[in-house]
Amino acid sequence: MSDCIFCKIIKKEIPAKIIYEDDKVIAFEDINPQAPVHLLVVPRKHIPTILDLTSEDNQLIGHIYLTANNLAKNKGISVSGFRTVFNCNKDAGQAVYHIHLHILGGRRMAWPPG
Ligand code: 5GP
Ligand code: ZN
Repeated sequence: MSDCIFCKIIKKEIPAKIIYEDDKVIAFEDINPQAPVHLLVVPRKHIPTILDLTSEDNQLIGHIYLTANNLAKNKGISVSGFRTVFNCNKDAGQAVYHIHLHILGGRRMAWPPG
């Protein structure tokens, strides 16, 4: 989508600190990190919210999580622990309507989340 900020990052039209990419996903550092490690795993396919997922995306979602696992291991937060989050719509605070899995780690997380 032409006015989507994450599609622009995927197309390299705007810069990001990209740490991984393949034919299905791209992962980069969050511009406003909420933890010492804060990464976003983003599918190349423009999907506005997780409510828009279909059975066609089953493999894609699995791939996003396996990518998150690998990145958490590479960043050294897999043993200490990390949180993965898909925000969906207003009450969850979704700001970018192109789905992205947050990976947060490197500090103790509060529960319940704010
Ligand atoms: P949401 O609230 O939609 O789940 O999360 C959107 C995330 O994207 C936020 O954590 C925000 O800091 C991040 N973000 C928004 N715009 C940009 C950008 O242009 N570049 C990067 N790297 N992150 C962004
Ligand atoms: Zn997009």
